[in-house]
Amino acid sequence: MTTLAAGTATTDSAARPQPGLARHLIDGAWTGTPITERRNPARPHEIVALSPAGTAEDADAAVAAAVRAQPAWAALPAPARGAILLKAASLLEDRATAVAADLVREEGKTLAEATGEVKRAADVLRFFGSLGWAPSGDVLPSGLPGTTITTRREPLGVFALITPWNFPIAIPAWKAAPALVAGNAVVLKPAELTPLSATHLARALQDAGLPTGVFNVVHGSGRVVGEAFARDERVAGLSFTGSTAVGLHLKGVLDARRARVQLEMGGKNAVLVLGDADPESAAAVVAAGAFGLTGQACTATSRVYVTPGVREAFTAALVRIAGEYAPGDGLAGARMGAVVSEAQFAQDAAAVRLAVERGAELLAGAHDADPTGGLFFPPAVLAGMAEDDPIVTEEVFGPVVAVLEVPDYEAGLAAVNSSRYGLTAGICTDSLALATDFAARAQAGVVKVNRPTSGLDLNAPFGGVKDSSTNTFREQGRSAVEFYTWGKTVYLGV
Ligand code: ADP
Repeated sequence: MTTLAAGTATTDSAARPQPGLARHLIDGAWTGTPITERRNPARPHEIVALSPAGTAEDADAAVAAAVRAQPAWAALPAPARGAILLKAASLLEDRATAVAADLVREEGKTLAEATGEVKRAADVLRFFGSLGWAPSGDVLPSGLPGTTITTRREPLGVFALITPWNFPIAIPAWKAAPALVAGNAVVLKPAELTPLSATHLARALQDAGLPTGVFNVVHGSGRVVGEAFARDERVAGLSFTGSTAVGLHLKGVLDARRARVQLEMGGKNAVLVLGDADPESAAAVVAAGAFGLTGQACTATSRVYVTPGVREAFTAALVRIAGEYAPGDGLAGARMGAVVSEAQFAQDAAAVRLAVERGAELLAGAHDADPTGGLFFPPAVLAGMAEDDPIVTEEVFGPVVAVLEVPDYEAGLAAVNSSRYGLTAGICTDSLALATDFAARAQAGVVKVNRPTSGLDLNAPFGGVKDSSTNTFREQGRSAVEFYTWGKTVYLGV
């Protein structure tokens, strides 16, 4: 398979890596002509990947393969399914150096972030693989004599996964692993910008011995391939991570045919910094959430509300730390990576520019950053804007944070909750009472006390409320399996 494999980067005489070749994986075969170019966001002249532009026919073939493969897969004992995920985890770890380098080149994040993400993907496969041995139901007493009640979870069949570019291997892994261990087959449509990472996952699963057709990948546009998956009556459910607009559109499609749907969408995550917090530690927490991963996480911090006593010291510390997040080439040891695409760069720059035009003060960063030599966007700290300014209400998806003063805790909590989104929310305080109150009253799926809004352990349920999520089934942790299964109650009379 070497000629068809992704991540076959070698060096030419100019030491420039050859583009990795991504292909569809349909029914166990690597297919499709890799024609779509992906350039390294940190090195505009370097073509990192070539991938095929999938068609509705490719999507149809992938679903058909999954439908054929799923019954035999579900009939395997759960520990045998889990063992394949465990093996894939080890393979991914063995290949981590090459996979992480491809991830940096196609997505732009730092090598440390990419290495951590590949390790996360392996750990996720291991976590769900080990669930092959876990109990899958309860035994309940019955009021009837000689009767036992058991509950069990059944796979639904074929799941479609549509994933974004910002965690290009971890998100496909954390959606696919619970689906697979539960006995489903999967069709994946990875983000167009990051075809190599998903291909590495597919290769690890294939090399681990996953039966043909159980896991299929079709590259290409969301409108063509994603839409075809969503509309296919044979697809029992769809898990999506991406923009709110696309997510809500897909919900309409899936709801109309009464199929299961899980959406993780936008965020406008806030941190409330109270007067009793140490301003340096609070600034480090906010900076990690706002500038880590180049701010390109749906859990990134983009709003900060500060009470008067600590505002000055906190803001000064945040501005200083922002200066330490110099953007650059992730493979050359930069502290902060590149923005993923020219379109995203333009969106970040426009958001900062508009805020400044509307009267915000730019305390760190630039509104005229030049993308020509690489998509390097200096982290921006803005202050002095109105509460309903677009920079406070609209998701930017870049290293941009708005700092606003609030008179007290109650006003800060109300401001945190004023968003249409509700993914994560943070508070920096030494007060146990206020931290506890915030945990109860913040309208967010994940609340962090004295910790960055981004970053979650793999065993912690993840998802949001309001326009951030379908708020039905959570991802990650044991609860992730619920989305991919239905519950059955069995009465056993003897
Ligand atoms: P992002 O801002 O992360 O690119 P998108 O929502 O545009 O967010 O993309 C997330 C994923 O959804 C990608 O894999 C993309 O190809 C896919 N996608 C985009 N539009 C559609 C659509 N109309 N139907 C299905 N999938 C789509």
